[in-house]
Amino acid sequence: MRDQETEMDTIKDTRHLRHFIGGEWTEAARGETFEVLNPLDDSLYAHAARGSAEDMNRAVTAAKSAFATYRDTLPKERERWLLRVAEIMEARKQDLLDCLIDEIGSPVQKAMFEFDKGLTMVRAAAGLCRNVRGETFPSDRPGTVSMSIREPRGVVAVITPFNVPLIKTTRLVCNALALGNTVVHLPSEMAPHLTVLFAEIVAEAGLPPAAYNVVTGFGHEVGDALTGHKDVSFVTFTGSSVIGQHIAEVCARNKTPSTLELGGKSPTVVLADADLDKAVPLAARSIFMFGGQACIGSSRFYVERPIFDDFVKRFAMIAGKVGMGDLRDPSTVIAPIISERQRARVRAHIEDAVAKGATLATGGGWEGNRCQPTLLTGVTGEMTVCREETFGPVTSIYPIESYEEGLARANDTDFGLSSAIFTRDIDKAMHFARNIGAGMCHINGPTIHDEAHVPFGGNGESGVGREGTDADMEAMTELKWITVQL
Ligand code: NAD
Repeated sequence: MRDQETEMDTIKDTRHLRHFIGGEWTEAARGETFEVLNPLDDSLYAHAARGSAEDMNRAVTAAKSAFATYRDTLPKERERWLLRVAEIMEARKQDLLDCLIDEIGSPVQKAMFEFDKGLTMVRAAAGLCRNVRGETFPSDRPGTVSMSIREPRGVVAVITPFNVPLIKTTRLVCNALALGNTVVHLPSEMAPHLTVLFAEIVAEAGLPPAAYNVVTGFGHEVGDALTGHKDVSFVTFTGSSVIGQHIAEVCARNKTPSTLELGGKSPTVVLADADLDKAVPLAARSIFMFGGQACIGSSRFYVERPIFDDFVKRFAMIAGKVGMGDLRDPSTVIAPIISERQRARVRAHIEDAVAKGATLATGGGWEGNRCQPTLLTGVTGEMTVCREETFGPVTSIYPIESYEEGLARANDTDFGLSSAIFTRDIDKAMHFARNIGAGMCHINGPTIHDEAHVPFGGNGESGVGREGTDADMEAMTELKWITVQL
């Protein structure tokens, strides 16, 4: 009895997150909730409504009915709403930062980076409202004006991952809304509060009710009810390759178009003429930021033999100094790994590599839920860490005998998200950029780079399609060909 009372008190005292459907905050239809844990110490962070197919259906129905009028809102209205979203985000910056720190374990440095990026995404989306463009075509039929226009698709399903919830939410939700679509958003079950905060901001900004709807819950319980819904016209998914594959199959049944932004195993090639004073700190940034929980983190380094030992030594020295302190200390870089399941995966990748003969140049241990920055050498093809996404602060460094070997080995993967090369030789750098099987390539820069208006995305196991203002305009609108016979 006493235990039950204590439990009830705890429930009353913690955050309670609800769905946002049709402009109203609502409990789950079945009245169920689930726990959201702070990954730093697995303490209870919040309770959230546990969505079901019924909730999802209500959200899609609301979004569909809102679309009937939202599609005809004027660019100046959508622009004003989105700029207001940006203003309110600035006013609520501390709430968003606290959430990024306590809900998903972002060090404040990463939370600030994400906040700034998110703000830019919203403002860029506001600019998109006036930038929806069609074309005119010559016609072989005399007296004919021939043109294409772009129309919003309808209800867009936005599904976001835990690791950069604000960047993904601001970009994908705001681009969809800027283009005249309405949205149903399923956030990661590990980051629902961030999305609930964003929904509060959208509501305060005065967008029409039901233009933006949020259902919290477990993807495996409610995902299909969203992606397989006949009234959903487009799906944009960011998450793991396994779930992406499933979503592609569900979408195919209804012929629902989609973009898939999935996992990575992004390579960095470092040639002997590289400026190591610049390359090594950037290498460290590209794998240790947010404890390696970045899709575009570099988890493979191919380094030319003459500089291999020096590179490993310098990289290990930086790795040993990467901040692992208080998440609110600006020098902290390493984040807790988000969940016990993901921690088990990171542990298994390191243990498997070491058991099969790899060497730990540094790291390999844990401090609480945080994995130390870990560098592996002597990694071979039969080790899991060589091919699969680890999603932790773990990378492998391989010696190469030539640029050609570096390119071949960088391409020896099923993934194709980001890539990088460090060299002073522009011919090799551009050859690499043109021949790497990745959606993105950075010359003398880290694999981690994103901006609001660039075509961001990958190939193969890393996804299908691109996101960004122009890319989303193409993906989230439907082309219509119109002729006028004069
Ligand atoms: P995840 O695949 O576990 O979950 C992502 C989202 O999918 C969550 O919102 C979840 O609720 C939802 N989901 C789960 N099952 C579903 C289903 N059956 N139908 C519909 N939705 C479902 O990924 P995660 O652990 O949150 O994020 C990490 C992964 O995301 C990594 O693989 C990372 O590389 C990838 N990622 C990719 C990018 C990119 O832009 N390419 C960006 C960030 C993260």
